[in-house]
Amino acid sequence: MSVIYKRVALIGLGLIAGSMAHALRRGGLTDNIVGTARSAETRDIAREINLCDRVVDTAAEAVEGADLVVLAVPVGAMAAVAKEIAPHLKQGATVTDVGSVKQAVIDAVGPHIPEGVHFVPAHPMAGTEHSGPRSGFAELFENRWCLLVPVDGGDSDAVERLKSLWQAMGANVETMEPEHHDLVCAVTSHAPHLIAYTMVGVADDLRRVTDYEVVKFSAAGFRDFTRIAASDPTMWRDVFLNNKEATLEILGRFTEELFALQRAIRTGDGDLLHDYFTHTRAIRRGIIDAGQDTDAPDFGRGPKR
Ligand code: NAP
Repeated sequence: MSVIYKRVALIGLGLIAGSMAHALRRGGLTDNIVGTARSAETRDIAREINLCDRVVDTAAEAVEGADLVVLAVPVGAMAAVAKEIAPHLKQGATVTDVGSVKQAVIDAVGPHIPEGVHFVPAHPMAGTEHSGPRSGFAELFENRWCLLVPVDGGDSDAVERLKSLWQAMGANVETMEPEHHDLVCAVTSHAPHLIAYTMVGVADDLRRVTDYEVVKFSAAGFRDFTRIAASDPTMWRDVFLNNKEATLEILGRFTEELFALQRAIRTGDGDLLHDYFTHTRAIRRGIIDAGQDTDAPDFGRGPKR
C-alpha cells in the first residue's frame, strides 16, 4: 500500500491511537507519526515501545506540519485539545477524531477549526476493554465498521481520503448523519455497556451475601458482563454525558421490555418468553452471518493481549 498522509499526528496515545499507529505502519500508509499524550508517564511508555516516530510533550507541537491530525482522547476532552491545536494547524490539513459520540464532538471541535483546514469526524466501531499505550494492535479495525460523519459543507475530497485510510487499515466504511450515528451507537454499544455496568454492580452487592460464589460460578453468563464492565471509566463517563438523549431513549425502551418479561415470568407466560428468546437468537445468527463475530463457543475470549 502507499502513503495516504505524509505526516500523521496522534493526540492521545491509548487503545485507538495506538492501534492506528500499528496499522499505519503495517500498511506503509504514512511516512511519519508524531504522537503526544497528556501524562509524562504515557509519553514515556510510548517512547519506550517505539509506538510513534516521535513523541512530543504538547498537542500544539505534535500538529505542526501534520497532514492528518487524529483526536483520540475522551469525548469530554476534545474541545480543550481542539482549542490548543487550532493556531498550529497546517493549511489544507485534515482534523479527524475517533470519539464514540458524534454530535457533541462536532459541537465541541467544529468552532475551533480554522478556515482552510478540513474537519472529518469519524468513529471506528472497534474496541476492547483495555486502554493505554500498550493496549493497541494493528488488527483492531479489521472487518470492523468505521463510521464517517461529514460536517455540513465539508470538503468531499478530504472525506474520500480519510475513507481510503480507514479502508487501508482494514475497516469497512460508511457515512452517517450525527444524530443517527448517536442513536445507532446508543443501541449497539452505549446502552449495553450501561446494562453491563449495572449487572456487575448488582452482583457485587449480592456478593456480600453469597461471598465468593458470584466469582466462582461466573462462567454462567456473568463473566461476559464483567469484561464489558471493565471498560475505561473516563471514556464511558464521557460517552453517557455526551450522548444523553439517545441513551435515555434506548434505556426507556429497555425498561419497558424488561417489565414485559418480568410480567411474563410472574404470570407464567412461557409462550411469550420462548417467542422472545427465539427472536433474539435469530439476531445473534444475523450478527455471525454478517461476519461481526464467530460462532466459536469461547465467544469473547480470543488470544490474550
Ligand atoms: P485510552 O486508551 O484511555 O486513551 C486515551 C488517551 O487520551 C490517553 O493517551 C490519555 O492520556 C488521553 N487523555 C485522557 N484524558 C485527557 C484529557 N483530559 N486531555 C488530554 N488527553 C487526555 O482511550 P481509547 O480507548 O483509545 O479512546 C480514545 C477515544 O476513542 C475516546 O474518545 C473513545 O470514545 C473513542 N473510542 C474508544 C473505543 C474503545 O472501545 N476503547 C472504541 C471506539 C472509539 P494519558 O494516558 O496521559 O492519561
